[in-house]
Amino acid sequence: MPKIALLPGDGIGPEVTYAAVDVLKAADDIYGLKLEFEAFPFGGNAIDAHGEPFPDVTKKGCLGADAILLGAIGGPKWDNVPRNIRAETGLLALRKAHELFANLRPAKVLPGLEHLSPLKPEIAKGVDVLVIRELTGGIYFGQPRGMSEAEGWNTERYSTHEVVRIARVAFEAARKRRNKVCSVDKANVLEVGEFWRKTVNEVHQDYADVGLEHQYVDAMAMHLVTKPGRFDVVVTGNIFGDILSDLASVLPGSLGLLPSASLGEKTPLFEPVHGSAPDIAGKGIANPTAAILSAAMLLTHALNRPDVAKVLEDAVTHALSTNPTGDLGGKANTAEFTRQVISALQKVST
Ligand code: ATP
Repeated sequence: MPKIALLPGDGIGPEVTYAAVDVLKAADDIYGLKLEFEAFPFGGNAIDAHGEPFPDVTKKGCLGADAILLGAIGGPKWDNVPRNIRAETGLLALRKAHELFANLRPAKVLPGLEHLSPLKPEIAKGVDVLVIRELTGGIYFGQPRGMSEAEGWNTERYSTHEVVRIARVAFEAARKRRNKVCSVDKANVLEVGEFWRKTVNEVHQDYADVGLEHQYVDAMAMHLVTKPGRFDVVVTGNIFGDILSDLASVLPGSLGLLPSASLGEKTPLFEPVHGSAPDIAGKGIANPTAAILSAAMLLTHALNRPDVAKVLEDAVTHALSTNPTGDLGGKANTAEFTRQVISALQKVST
């Protein structure tokens, strides 16, 4: 009985999270997934109830779960609380507690929604790229680091262990998709890049069925704009991943469409890329697509059911092409859109 810890959070977080839960329950009825859900306080609401954003009850609930589904946290109400108990501090502590070293951000231009992309429709069509960013190492954490009157310095450093585990995540993810990995580095200038490339090649020996290519990060930035359709899984270090995942995330054209996953040594975390959008909270109009697609990622990466995830994604695509939410120019509110997804899901699976 897979246990899912729900952290609905603040603002539109609960609205989109429970929409995703309704869709998961509909999938459960059809595929017999036997999911169990339990909600925990996290973020601003936890500050109100417990005086801290990541209270013990939530820590315990997350460690005992098979997956965590997060909505969004924070908002103006909690902007002035002391730094050590800010909503975002809770998120950092959650990532640390579960050693979430791999951040997965798919950017998919859904059929019929090419016009939302800033790229020409013929380039945007069919784009479906998954950027995997190493999240806990590299120059953001390397020592020595510092600043004096005369200079500032940081250190880019990766160990075999760190590169091996992120490369494995990439190859495993590719096997559930189109079987191609592109590893991005700067091996022509940096030793750490040369080391990264050598190590990825070594891991590849265990994944001979998966295609592997390497790109330098500067060339990759160009390719992601001029021919993004040719990439499947892109894996890279922390700083390059920070930049390239943001670049890729604008390709689908709307914040409300972007899911994410963070995988690590303990319980994996799934959450929309968007924030708590306090301006539309409580109005019932939030687009739940990113949360529903995060639930689809949960099915693939936490429960190893890419087949059910695919059905869910097809149902979302169908609902988006029939009657999308207001942010995409449609008329559906959150509840109506969720019903459309569920009825498409029920149709696809019969
Ligand atoms: P954060 O700093 O928490 O990421 P933010 O204010 O930078 O927050 P969001 O909260 O993601 O960014 O919201 C930006 C705007 O995008 C919101 O004002 C909202 O109008 C819109 N938006 C974000 N998510 C959605 C959604 N799921 N459905 C509809 N509109 C959304």
